[in-house]
Amino acid sequence: AAKAAGKSAYRRCTPGLRESAVGRAELIADLRRAVDEGQLHLEFQPIVDLATGAVRSAEALVRWRHPQLGMLSPARFLPLAEETGLILPIDRWVIHEACRAAATWQDRIPSATVAVNIAASHLRRPDLIATVTEATAGAGLAPRALTLELTESALIEGSDAVLDRLSQLRELGIRIAIDDFGTGYSSLSYLHRIPATELKIDRSFVARVAEDNRAYATVEMVTRLAGAFDLAVVAEGVETDRQHDAVAAIGCVQGQGFRYGRPAALGELRTVLARRRPTGVTDVAESDLTL
Ligand code: C2E
Ligand code: MG
Ligand code: MG
Ligand code: MG
Repeated sequence: AAKAAGKSAYRRCTPGLRESAVGRAELIADLRRAVDEGQLHLEFQPIVDLATGAVRSAEALVRWRHPQLGMLSPARFLPLAEETGLILPIDRWVIHEACRAAATWQDRIPSATVAVNIAASHLRRPDLIATVTEATAGAGLAPRALTLELTESALIEGSDAVLDRLSQLRELGIRIAIDDFGTGYSSLSYLHRIPATELKIDRSFVARVAEDNRAYATVEMVTRLAGAFDLAVVAEGVETDRQHDAVAAIGCVQGQGFRYGRPAALGELRTVLARRRPTGVTDVAESDLTL
């Protein structure tokens, strides 16, 4: 009992949302208003071709500018959003906003896609298809320019209805990425059933790829697996040159991480990318490098 009391006393001192000065009920009320009051915004992080540095895609990542608490990362409010069902209006807003953003770079990099994260609860809803088609059509964006990122666990708990929905999305041209690949259940059988177009190798493996043989072997195995299944593959969370060199040597085609660019506001991303012309590459069109 003393231990439990000590633990909860400690918890009260940590600046987690549920323990902070802003109470949980108040925060839920705040979150309910956040979408309508324009407190959410997106940052975009480039996904690049490892060989040339050309931008292939950008992942939209949501942030909440809370009036009292300041900038909150998804880890701090998405769990609460999931619990309360508020994740649905948030995800819908993200999809629409991301499609609008992508439409602004479509004329400059026609092949570039925008990626959005989809919560497991959203995947279970039939209206996901309507949301996605309305967002792409409304923004004038080709469906093939949108990638939905789903986690392994969201997919594994998926029913036949979820699989049907994914197939319908694929038929529309929407791309499907399996996010944080390797962190979910280790059964590979679902890979045969899910109509994915790409695998994103979880950052925990990439973080150790240059020092740890097992991490290296894992990245290598997932890259081969992706090749065998005809899926695109992205190394997530590449931070250093050594990690970049390792994943490139393994044959991974695309990368995402601080090494190439941090998540940034759309305008900021344009500036960063304009400066990030890869050295030693002369035959890459400017339009391939600038969002
Ligand atoms: P994720 O989809 O795996 O997104 C990648 C996360 O890794 C992002 O964290 C990104 O900022 C971070 N990251 C990228 N490169 C590096 C790197 O080189 N090093 C390190 N240490 N981190 C890196 P973020 O933005 O905090 O998002 C966390 C998670 O929250 C996302 O993981 C995703 O699962 C979820 N999320 C974010 N935005 C949304 C959204 O709009 N809807 C939903 N449903 N989930 C979202
Ligand atoms: Mg993601
Ligand atoms: Mg990920
Ligand atoms: Mg992740």
